[in-house]
Amino acid sequence: MNKRIATPTVTKKILADNQIKLSKALGQNFLIDGNIIDKIVNIADIKRGDQIIEIGPGIGSLTQALLEQIEEGRLFAIEKDERMIKILKELFQDEKLSLIHRDVLDIDWPQFFTGNDLMDKPVKLVANLPYYITTPIIMGLLEARVPVGRYVFMVQKEVAKRMAAKPGGKDYGALSIAVQYYTKPEICHIVPPSVFIPQPDVKSAIIKLETNKIPPVQLEDERFFFQIVQAIFQQRRKNLKNSLSKAANIKLDKGLIEKSLQELGIPEGTRGEMLGLTEIGVLSNILFKGMEDKVN
Ligand code: SAM
Repeated sequence: MNKRIATPTVTKKILADNQIKLSKALGQNFLIDGNIIDKIVNIADIKRGDQIIEIGPGIGSLTQALLEQIEEGRLFAIEKDERMIKILKELFQDEKLSLIHRDVLDIDWPQFFTGNDLMDKPVKLVANLPYYITTPIIMGLLEARVPVGRYVFMVQKEVAKRMAAKPGGKDYGALSIAVQYYTKPEICHIVPPSVFIPQPDVKSAIIKLETNKIPPVQLEDERFFFQIVQAIFQQRRKNLKNSLSKAANIKLDKGLIEKSLQELGIPEGTRGEMLGLTEIGVLSNILFKGMEDKVN
């Protein structure tokens, strides 16, 4: 395919020729603006040897631009809709492209990386994601700890704001902490609905996540830290002492909570959502040690 796919005319023609009615349930909002595609690709900054994973290629508007940039690398494009796979096979005969007909949520990432010899290579994820599963896709990848160095993707604006949020505001929560534990997020562009067919009901954003080489805080126990995060943000209107003592998933002693907050100089009445990631990390370390001491 030589013509640019990301235009209203070409996209509509491909869809009509293949008698495709786009599926809302699969989050099929296709990009029809070449400038937005260029922005995504520029932020991805593809270098020689970079391996790219694209989730949800659709009819290939972004795939096409990515393939133009890849040198000595491969593009792994994962798509659930069989109709799109058929179109992509017709449009692209590029040896660099591996089309994978799968539900992305069924992928075992460590196995995928090992099986495709990606463990020791520079890997980037670049995508216009299906919005209904953004969080499970991104958290699945981050928690699998597979070596993706950079993520660049289009997402609902509200979700991008939550990923990049700092303490105190309404967007700050468990998703902000999780994403910022693993990466440095940056919202690069806000994107209007008019660049998609069909137009989504919400604004979108291009966000970049740069994977942290070292975590921002050294944790005694990662699982325990995320339990504390969950406890704090499940009860975000409560103060720290109350939300921690009522945490359903961990049984924390009130005395230990009081002592730990005192040690950190955090007033008991502080709401958890005012604490930064590092502070929550240090607090979870103190609580974890306190619980261990009690057991021993
Ligand atoms: N990349 C194309 C573009 O920018 O025009 C299409 C993006 S569209 C927002 C999301 C794509 O993800 C659709 O092609 C949809 O079929 C695909 N998709 C939806 N759910 C999926 C899943 N669970 N696994 C893999 N692909 C999925």
